[in-house]
Amino acid sequence: MSLLQQAPRFSIDAAADLARACYGLDASATLLPSERDQNFLLTTPAGARFVLKVANATEARASLEAQNAAMALVAARTGRCPNVVPAAGGESILAPAGSPHLVRLVTYLPGIPLAQHGHRTPALLEDLGRCIGEVDLALAGFDHPAIHRDFHWDLANAARVIGEHVPLVRDAALRALVERVGDRSLQDVDVRTRWLRRGAIHNDANDWNVLVDEGRISGLIDFGDMVASWIAGDPAVAIAYAVLDHPDPLPAASAIVRGYHAVNPLEDEEIAALFPLVCLRLCMSVCLAAWQQEQRPDDEYLGVSQDPIRRTLPRLADVEPAVAENVFRRACGLGARMTTSEIAVARRRTMGGNLSVAYRTPVHAVRGWMQYLFDADGRRYIDGYNNVPHVGHCHPRVVAAAERQMRALNTNTRYLHEALETFAERLISTLPEALRVCYFVNSGSEANELALRLARAHTRRRELIVLDAAYHGNTTTLIEISPYKFNGPGGSGRPDWVHVAPVPDVYRGAHKAGDHNIGEKYATGVAEIVEWLRSQGRGLCGYIAESCPSVAGQIMLPPGYLAAVYRYVREAGGVCIADEVQTAYGRIGTHFYGFEQQAVVPDIVVLGKPIGNGHPIGAVVTTEAIAASFDNGMEFFSTFGGNTVSCAVGLAVLDVLHDEQLQSHAAQVGAHLLERLRRLQQAHPLVGDVRGSGLFVGVELVRDTKTLEPARREAADVVNAVRESGGLIGTEGPSHNVLKIRPPMPFTETDADDLVSMLSSALQEAR
Ligand code: PMP
Repeated sequence: MSLLQQAPRFSIDAAADLARACYGLDASATLLPSERDQNFLLTTPAGARFVLKVANATEARASLEAQNAAMALVAARTGRCPNVVPAAGGESILAPAGSPHLVRLVTYLPGIPLAQHGHRTPALLEDLGRCIGEVDLALAGFDHPAIHRDFHWDLANAARVIGEHVPLVRDAALRALVERVGDRSLQDVDVRTRWLRRGAIHNDANDWNVLVDEGRISGLIDFGDMVASWIAGDPAVAIAYAVLDHPDPLPAASAIVRGYHAVNPLEDEEIAALFPLVCLRLCMSVCLAAWQQEQRPDDEYLGVSQDPIRRTLPRLADVEPAVAENVFRRACGLGARMTTSEIAVARRRTMGGNLSVAYRTPVHAVRGWMQYLFDADGRRYIDGYNNVPHVGHCHPRVVAAAERQMRALNTNTRYLHEALETFAERLISTLPEALRVCYFVNSGSEANELALRLARAHTRRRELIVLDAAYHGNTTTLIEISPYKFNGPGGSGRPDWVHVAPVPDVYRGAHKAGDHNIGEKYATGVAEIVEWLRSQGRGLCGYIAESCPSVAGQIMLPPGYLAAVYRYVREAGGVCIADEVQTAYGRIGTHFYGFEQQAVVPDIVVLGKPIGNGHPIGAVVTTEAIAASFDNGMEFFSTFGGNTVSCAVGLAVLDVLHDEQLQSHAAQVGAHLLERLRRLQQAHPLVGDVRGSGLFVGVELVRDTKTLEPARREAADVVNAVRESGGLIGTEGPSHNVLKIRPPMPFTETDADDLVSMLSSALQEAR
């Protein structure tokens, strides 16, 4: 039986009899409007008034208990709702014999419904906002099992309710409008839900449930729709109905927001979600009315708000959500948000001209969640680019760890703290036996700088071998050892003490994939430099390389390469530095670190980006012998390196990596991605090479698969087209023709399929 068929049908006389029998009230009864219950206004001969509430037969006792408890709380704290009147025997809920309906008596709240009140002045609306704010404040912390329910009026169910019932809306124009506004608002809300506070809410401050008396809001009635949901839902519902047929909906709404915020401050994300929630409530109302009217075509109350909604929704559809957000922010006394174009203009004014911004149409990102970014318009992007938020943008365990530690203590390494030692021990446990001494800094650059100092202190030499096209960081010295920079625009060439070995690029280099002993062949590039230095009487300090050269074009080192290189370097007395800033922590799927794929053990390992998941942490791990050489009397100290919060974050990242088994996930998803990309290669002549391991992937675009002419412009077109379709990737390599894919590790096979299909269309266009 449908819930609507069970509405009570007490007569006025039966209600008066009940009042007399159960509450000892001698009163006349009149019927008040209600959707699914029966409410009787009782008036005693002395003029005292009460409301007798006869519940729908489907109403569970627990739900009425929750309502009573909430009303008692709100009435006591605010006086802005009816209070429960117990029966002579003390019960607050009665079950009259022979009836399936539970009965309650509540005090009468004076006033007429806002729906019937003529003039909705700004002052009255502000008071409405205050009233809802006070109610929500009174309900803060209130809980009851009955309000945790799957309820069709819960705004959190908007997608389902609209999806299921919108086909029942007979008026085609209204149906199309609800679909359009509903879609837009769902998208806007969807990206924010994670950040909306939850709690017990009244959930039905429609203009029939808001009473006005003597020019002010006397209060809110009918707690029957209470639910545990987004707190912002309460002001949203109030706004939705208060602006119906209002000549200026937005200023009217902002008066309510002002009142609410003054007593119960809204958070940024709630303010942003308010307008879409208002629209959703009205869309839900249209859809649910259509559904209910199918079942009870004669019930007038069901359609009570429909005509005003039909008139008002088109006006709300014309309001830009971002404009509404700024109007509401101002109502709360907060500054308006800068628009995307205002930010772009300010950026040109305030930032150095060589601070680049990605994409022809830059992305104005405002939120991140795992492998997704969301822009200011609420658009979702699959993040195929950012390897810094390694375990996912804003991973809640990492956020919680940082927040917890920030509250407790954040200081430096001059004091003893368990977090520093635990993090260091956990980090060392991920590395080969020989690497057992840690230093903490704040970035990859700082870590590489420190690695150079360690190498120099240990060898007392300076000559360094680097790989062509490499990048190791932004400091003065690191620019000097990064061919990508010193040979690039604005660079001042190779310093005398830096020696550049060829990149072992098996696609484009001198030795191609499949060549016999290819790793050894490329290693001779290093051997020749070592030999030349020896012939010049110059001693070698060391060799530094990424374990999978990324800036050089997402290169995978051929087997045997590093083993041979390390042999040559060590024979010459040099140390071997592995820059694992991009490849550490399971990204390559097969191993936790890139160098492990080459079966070598470096003397110094440099860590950055992923180890703090966006929190700035750099680390250097080395051998006891090198650490001893560095401990030469000069103190080492980094103010922020190894601070307590960073250590808590670093530990949380390692915990998540382990608990969510992200390395094996990367192996599995990476294999799937590479397989899909290789299929793409068959279909698109521009794709010259697909390479990678785990979630470290490169797709090299060439104009001609014989000459390997780099398709630089096409690569830029592809990256921008993918951005337009909702995916973020970048370009890499000396000719900027290698598509770089290295997403946060939670990236799924579905994300891979979606990204590959965006790539496929983009490649089609770029030809
Ligand atoms: N090494 C490598 C391999 C890098 O890719 C980078 C940054 N792109 C760095 C070092 C420098 O790291 P940071 O920007 O954190 O200083």
